[in-house]
Amino acid sequence: MRKKIVAGNWKMNKTFNEAEDLLFNISDLLKENPVAGAQVLVCPPALYLELAADIAHENGFDCGAQNLSEHESGAFTGEISAAMIASTGAKYVIIGHSERRTYFGEKDDLLAVKVSQALKHGLIPVYCCGEILAEREENRHFDVVGGQISQALFHLSPDDFAKVVVAYEPVWAIGTGRTASPEQAQEMHAYIRKVLAGKFGDAAKETTILYGGSCNAANARELFAKPDVDGGLIGGASLKAEDFVKIAHSF
Ligand code: PEP
Repeated sequence: MRKKIVAGNWKMNKTFNEAEDLLFNISDLLKENPVAGAQVLVCPPALYLELAADIAHENGFDCGAQNLSEHESGAFTGEISAAMIASTGAKYVIIGHSERRTYFGEKDDLLAVKVSQALKHGLIPVYCCGEILAEREENRHFDVVGGQISQALFHLSPDDFAKVVVAYEPVWAIGTGRTASPEQAQEMHAYIRKVLAGKFGDAAKETTILYGGSCNAANARELFAKPDVDGGLIGGASLKAEDFVKIAHSF
């Protein structure tokens, strides 16, 4: 079901005490000024998931992992399974973030398996897609993003597809301070919805599509005002409670 979401991707940041502080600070700010009509979600490093799930659920927000293994269980040293993530109380998992694609060589066929694995264990995939700068400059961004969507999501049943959240994150905007304009974001979100509709029909109208890439407290409102932008996946600005909660109030 389509909903407004603001999700924080903490990446590989925060020690245990710092993570706890950030979670309590977010909780306090949300208590003072609750966010109505949008889901707030934090995605801390995996070893803080149980802590985050406990604090988040007591305070009306949610949490998710940043990655998961494509395997069910077994001899995969250092990996974390969907079942493990679900057992912490986390509800979401980011899949296919551009940093996973770039630094860990994750490709769409692997990401398709990860999406299925998440759904099998009741986790909501937040599937990330987005073009690099050269692809946009060569006017290939629609083809690239369309391919990422079809290859990782088109194998899903309608029931499973209905649970998926998509995040459009142009790689040139992630961590660079260079945000897509609201018009660029809207154009791509509308395109993603069209690609999804080509496969899943009217169900695509119900897909939550987030924007990510240097989204912050100053620019979130105009991005979220666009009709196909249902919220944001926030990196750097999610590491400061005030900024993150301000973004969550930007609808
Ligand atoms: C991200 O990592 O998903 C992200 C959007 O990062 P930033 O907000 O820092 O650009």
